[in-house]
Amino acid sequence: MHDSRGHDSKDRELGMHRKITRRDFLDGVAVTAGAALMPSGLFAAGLGAGQAAVGPETSPNYYPPALTGMRGSHPGSFDAAHSLRDGTFWDSAGKPEDTGETYDLIIVGGGISGLAAAHFYRKATGGKARILILENHDDFGGHAKRNEFRAGNRTLIGYGGTYSIESPEPYSGVAKGVIEELGIEVGSFPKYLDRDLYGSRGRVPKIFFDKETFGADKLVDDPYPFPGGETFDLAVAGPDAWTHFLAEAPIDEKARKDVSRLCREKKDYLPELNAEQKQARLARMSYAKFLTEVVGVHADVIRLYQDVSFSEFGVGIDAVAATDAADTGYPGFAGMGLDASGLHNERNYFFHFPDGNASMARLLVRKLIPQALPGNSATDVVTAKANYAKLDEATSPVRIRLNSTAVRVKHAGDAARATQVEIAYARGGKVYTVKAGHCILACWNMMIPYLCEELPDAQKEALASAQKAPLLYSNVLLRNSSAFHKTGANSIYAPGSYHTHVDMDLPVSMGEYHCPRAAEDPLDVHMSKAPCRAGLAPRDQHIAGRMELYTTTFETIERKIREQLARTLGPGGFDPGRDILAITANRWPHGYAYEYSSLWDKFVLEGGETPCEKARKPYGRIAIANSDAGARAYTDEAINQAWRAVGEITKR
Ligand SMILES: Cc1cc2nc3c(=O)[nH]c(=O)nc-3n(C[C@H](O)[C@H](O)[C@H](O)COP(=O)(O)OP(=O)(O)OC[C@H]3O[C@@H](n4cnc5c(N)ncnc54)[C@H](O)[C@@H]3O)c2cc1C
Repeated sequence: MHDSRGHDSKDRELGMHRKITRRDFLDGVAVTAGAALMPSGLFAAGLGAGQAAVGPETSPNYYPPALTGMRGSHPGSFDAAHSLRDGTFWDSAGKPEDTGETYDLIIVGGGISGLAAAHFYRKATGGKARILILENHDDFGGHAKRNEFRAGNRTLIGYGGTYSIESPEPYSGVAKGVIEELGIEVGSFPKYLDRDLYGSRGRVPKIFFDKETFGADKLVDDPYPFPGGETFDLAVAGPDAWTHFLAEAPIDEKARKDVSRLCREKKDYLPELNAEQKQARLARMSYAKFLTEVVGVHADVIRLYQDVSFSEFGVGIDAVAATDAADTGYPGFAGMGLDASGLHNERNYFFHFPDGNASMARLLVRKLIPQALPGNSATDVVTAKANYAKLDEATSPVRIRLNSTAVRVKHAGDAARATQVEIAYARGGKVYTVKAGHCILACWNMMIPYLCEELPDAQKEALASAQKAPLLYSNVLLRNSSAFHKTGANSIYAPGSYHTHVDMDLPVSMGEYHCPRAAEDPLDVHMSKAPCRAGLAPRDQHIAGRMELYTTTFETIERKIREQLARTLGPGGFDPGRDILAITANRWPHGYAYEYSSLWDKFVLEGGETPCEKARKPYGRIAIANSDAGARAYTDEAINQAWRAVGEITKR
């Protein structure tokens, strides 16, 4: 039975007919959304010399963090890039218009790496250097993305991408230096975190078993939350978790016992090998294979844990090397006598702003363009309102031009002798050119071959191999947290469900921002998923997942969220029609930088130059930054690579 808008009764039960804000469409959002597809009427026609096209960013209503609906790589942000990839862009682009602008440095990409590169360049050359940053999205920060919800008279702040300052490797002196210059005191984090909030109210990590995968919908205590989950720091299993799990988990009885021995016993499963031989063996097998063939667990254990690695690796345990699993702290290795020095050792260097590392991007913007972000501390930045109209002012030495996709980067003449680089970019349906003494490509490696045709073929091939891992980070605004309270959950691992992780955010209050505390407070729930295709090599899994993400509509994601929360929290009285107030789905078809694995990338064990080393070589006046350039999906790497790239062009 459908209503006049095509909703059947199931949809109505889920609340699909409810009016929540879904401002992801181009019509009716005139001044809020952005990018290449944005109606060109929002951009002033034509330019005066030395003038950027005036666009929607100058409107007082332009405030991307408050947009809901499809965010992350939002509609309109990638069309120019994809048509460049397909070879159709220049057919309809028309002749580029020269803005007449000249800079010392143009940076392609306004993520942490691009912003850090601008910061380093200014330090190296003096504050007067003229820098332009081009960014295809309607906001700066790249993966470091801020999401805001308005609920009654309060604002809830969430992260749409990069979650925290953390890394499996120690932060370099350079990366730590930036953190300190921004005024972030990593060691002070515990004072902002209400560590006891969930535990003291009996909320513990849970596993949701769904009936399609496990035969029954059931919410069961998680006795052994795996490291890597977002609320891992608070993920302390409940006191009766093992009893509950062993009695209730809807998997084979042997599998339940296997989970218990895997997580609790300290056994050497390869006693015949010395530590070095063990490392060599484990580097060549997946964690799934280790569990099945070495530990000898029941097949249900693999079904249970297949997706547990999504948040850390962007693929399931079929594609994660057992050594990487051991380094991350997955169970099964405690009695193996392995060198634990590689363990996820940086949890003591950890900091989470309510908007994740978007606050770090905002602090960098404050350093580069102080008038765009008022305030003067690393805590007042949390609630400071960015003034987007100030990002691209002709009088400012540093300018950030949003909604602008670089489509061609070439030397003005021979790369060895040229004194300038010309960059063409698409904005508001037109193409413009700008010139600079140098260019840093702080965008995504796989985009660079399309941008920069003059690069050597071998370098282009290496750049193209950086297949990023796709991710979906959805924020869901709930009327209150009563259902979490009643079901006793604070985070839920949901193998088999659409979103595999459902987390109440870390309860962090900072500056003027106070996180929700009471059961009746509105709540931002974070749900995540790594679209992939188990059984394939990771690069192919990422390609398949990326296609899936690009072709999934917001409506489908919304329906999946409503269904999943209804089934998971229903026993706690949750009603999706009543309790869901807004949804923001941050899709990242190009998410984590591709990280090398001993399972798939033979140079990891055999040595030799890695693709990222080949890919990041400077070329004439062009240098390459971004986290792909170090093949590590972490903020410190984005900063390290920016530092190297700036050193190459300034001959530091
Ligand atoms: C969902 C998610 C969660 C993450 N969580 C963490 C975490 O908790 N901790 C951590 O350390 N790291 C995390 N990461 C890794 C994150 O990628 C890095 O920390 C870091 O933010 C990468 O910065 P970057 O500048 O190299 O890349 P990006 O942030 O991707 O920035 C590059 C920018 O360049 C733009 N661009 C690309 N092509 C063009 C073009 N032609 N013209 C103009 N602009 C272009 C892109 O759109 C993008 O905005 C996460 C990543 C994702 C996707």
